[in-house]
Formats: sequence, C-alpha cells, structure tokens
Amino acid sequence: MAMETRALVDVLREAHHLDGDGYAALLTCCTADADYLRAQAREVAVQMLGRGIFVRGLVEITNVCRNDCLYCGIRRSNTAVDRYLLTHEQVMHCCQAGHAIGFRTFVLQGGELPREREAWIADLVADIRASFPDSAITLSLGEWPREAYARWRAAGADRYLLRHETHNAAHYASLHPADMSQSNRLSCLDNLMVLGFQVGTGIMVGSPGQTIEHLVEDIQYIERLRPHMVGLGPFVPQHDTPLGCHPVGSVDLTTRLYAIFRLMMPHALIPSTTALNTIHPRGRLLGIEAGANVVMPNLSPSEVRGSYALYDGKAASAAEAAEGVALLEKQLATIGYHIDWSRGDYR
Ligand code: SAH
Repeated sequence: MAMETRALVDVLREAHHLDGDGYAALLTCCTADADYLRAQAREVAVQMLGRGIFVRGLVEITNVCRNDCLYCGIRRSNTAVDRYLLTHEQVMHCCQAGHAIGFRTFVLQGGELPREREAWIADLVADIRASFPDSAITLSLGEWPREAYARWRAAGADRYLLRHETHNAAHYASLHPADMSQSNRLSCLDNLMVLGFQVGTGIMVGSPGQTIEHLVEDIQYIERLRPHMVGLGPFVPQHDTPLGCHPVGSVDLTTRLYAIFRLMMPHALIPSTTALNTIHPRGRLLGIEAGANVVMPNLSPSEVRGSYALYDGKAASAAEAAEGVALLEKQLATIGYHIDWSRGDYR
C-alpha cells in the first residue's frame, strides 16, 4: 500500500530523499497535506538557518540577448524591446548605492551578451571585487564557454545562477529554438560546479507543456547535481512572446517545490522570487513560509527597470526595489522574520 502523504513528508525531512513516486505524490496531494509539507519545510528552515532572510542586490545589466527562448520577453526576436546595456560606471554606481544601503551580495543579471563582451564583464567583476572586498559577486549571464566562466571566477565572481529550465529534453526543445541545446546548458552547469562557483539552478513552474513527470525529473536532476542554490518561480506569460497566451504558473505548486527542496537540502539558498511576488500580493511571504530564505531586491537604475521585462507585470517597485528595504523589513516582521545583511554564503 502506498505510504500516506504526511509519512512521505516525514521521510523526506529525515532522509532528504524520496523515490520519484514520492515526489509526485507531494506535488499532487490535497491542500491540507501540502500545507503540512510547507509547515515542515518552514520548521526546518528556521531550525537550520534561523529567522534571518538574506538579501541580494540585483543589477539587471542588460536586456540585450543573443538567445531566443520562446517564453522570455527579452528574446532576440522581440522587436518591441528598447535594448540597453548599462555602462561600467553605471553598474559600479548601482553597487555603490546598494553597498551604502547595506547589501553584501551583488547579482549581475542580464540577457546573453555577444561573446566579445567576455573581457568587459571580467573587468567589471574585477572592479567590483576590488571596490567591495567584503561583498559576494553573483553572475547570472547565461551560457558561456568554460573559459569565460573560469576568467570571471578568477576575476573574483563567487556565485553563478543558471536555471536548467527543464530537464526533459523534449520539453526543453518545445521552449527553446533549435539552435539552443539542453546538453549545452547542463554542461555549463557542470563547468560552473567544477570551477568552484556556488551554483544555483532551477526552473519555471508551470511553463507551457510541463507535466508532473517533468517536475519529478527536475527534482531528481537537482538532487544529483546538488547545487548550492535553487531558484524557482512561476511561469508568467509575456505578451510579445510566442508563449504569451499560456496560463500563469501556480503559487501552490511553486511553494510545494520550495518546501520539497528545503527538506531535501536543508542548507540550500532558496530565493522567494520576484515572479512569485508578481503573481500574488503576499507571494514573497508565502515563499518564506514554505522554506525560502533569500530575497533579491532590485538595484537597477529606475529608468531601465521597465525595459527588463522578462514577463508581464514584473514587480519592480515598493518592497521589490532596493530603496524599499524598510518596507521589506516591515513585511518580514509580520511573519516573524528579519533581514540578515551578511554575505549569506552557502554553509
Ligand atoms: N539570460 C540569463 C539570465 C536572465 S533570464 C539566463 O538565461 O540564465 C533569468 C530567468 O528568468 C530565466 O532563467 C527564466 O527561468 C526566467 N524567465 C524568463 N522568462 C520568464 C517568464 N516568461 N516567466 C517566468 N520566468 C521567466
């Protein structure tokens, strides 16, 4: 007889592992059992990591992109986008402003720049490293050859975020153009791990065509890779993309996954993502209540925030913005948490 769902949650909490059917059961169980799953994950998060939530200052350095992912608002075929690339000085200025507020991690995220920009990025990383020796540098700049990652690592980058998006090859092919390959993305992740980055991977929850079986494959891939960070947000349609008419992903499923990863990897850094907060007014708090322990406020210059439109309605104001940390602190206090201003490395 199949194990009761709550017993499965208890096994995952103790042994940090279930078989595929077990994960599928946790993704499909009734609400009351899902609430039990989230409550257990929250308990583990508080026990292991306390009530401090790490903050990362996000700088969206460019919306220029050589890739053409079917879901993404800044895909190269989208001619409705005003393209920008911040200057070196603008990025430094964002970091200075963030450092003054108290941020000790800077995340440089962007579309995938032309290969000729490798040296420019390396210079930027080196300058941030020299200017803010007490801060961590995270890059989220997509797929590059191993040599580029090695150069940025040597220049002082500590962490890299690269979601695998989906581990199922056929599903990957349905979300990406033929010139992108899932095997390349996975080998990028292997390279990043070997180069000694703290690595984050993850998926969009509810991306078009995604099934429970796909999600189980994703969970099992992450279980094998053992990344330091897991980034998960709901799919949110962007009206100028080929997938712009598909329905938005679900808060419930996203937070079940936060909880599963918290129980599987108690020390993992799991952000409660902007996408989750975009589709639900309490999204960020619901993420933390399911075991997430990181938030990533936006440090980008306000004049470009509207142009970094990966999906429709992307939250970029109030507590989502770095200037809004007082509001963020207040929101966290309503559920008994506070901001932890330290670098927040994986331990
Ligand atoms: N180009 C880099 C980083 C920018 S995109 C990269 O590919 O890694 C960052 C993340 O945004 C992607 O990994 C994807 O999971 C997410 N994203 C893109 N379009 C989205 C959409 N329509 N809804 C939700 N998330 C989206």
